[in-house]
Amino acid sequence: MKLDISDKEAIIQRDRKTYAITPHIPAGLTTPEQLEQIATVARRYGARLKLSSGQRVMLLGLAEEDIDSAWNDLEGMRRARPFGPCIRSVKICPGTECCKRGQQDSVAAGLKLDERYQAKILPWKLKISVSGCMNDCAEACIKDIALLGTSKGWHLQVGGNGGSAPRLSRRLLEHIPSEEEALAAIERLINWFISQNRKCRIGKLVDEVGLEEVRKIALGGSA
Ligand code: SF4
Repeated sequence: MKLDISDKEAIIQRDRKTYAITPHIPAGLTTPEQLEQIATVARRYGARLKLSSGQRVMLLGLAEEDIDSAWNDLEGMRRARPFGPCIRSVKICPGTECCKRGQQDSVAAGLKLDERYQAKILPWKLKISVSGCMNDCAEACIKDIALLGTSKGWHLQVGGNGGSAPRLSRRLLEHIPSEEEALAAIERLINWFISQNRKCRIGKLVDEVGLEEVRKIALGGSA
């Protein structure tokens, strides 16, 4: 059986012959030029295109021998890693950049998180999201770590996930007054998750350790 080719960031498809690759599109913000480049590469190598839940465009059905060339032709685009034990994605809503309901700049905060953590290797997979208000269009409710904009700052949520054992995230910190403090709390949570070295979603760890203890960790104390 063929396997995913992790060093090429390619995923074997159901036919066990072809591969999918995914250029990274931070915040799902793209341009006509970037979409034209992706479309040109897809046409050249006979790939189909799929919009992903991680706010990217996947190229499906590539022959193994075309993977390197396709990545070369996607020049200037980073490679996403939508598989394996790592930070899979940072899902980001439009926030105050363009949404009339936005209360915080989710794009600015989310792009900083994306820059710091996208594809970072971890003990297990972890998804992040940032929503600009409590309407939660970026689905903080089912993300491992998430920020929600409020009129006074940010709520930090932890422990959500989808999958076969779905779980809703829980409120860890309320109305964090600055983006800087919110990002610092997330850094502490990710470092704690790494230190635990467990092959499970962070929500399971939160259940084991207790929300209060995890709150102390996020605030810079120790568990
Ligand atoms: S979560 Fe709020 S700010 Fe973000 S897109 Fe939805 S309504 Fe707009």
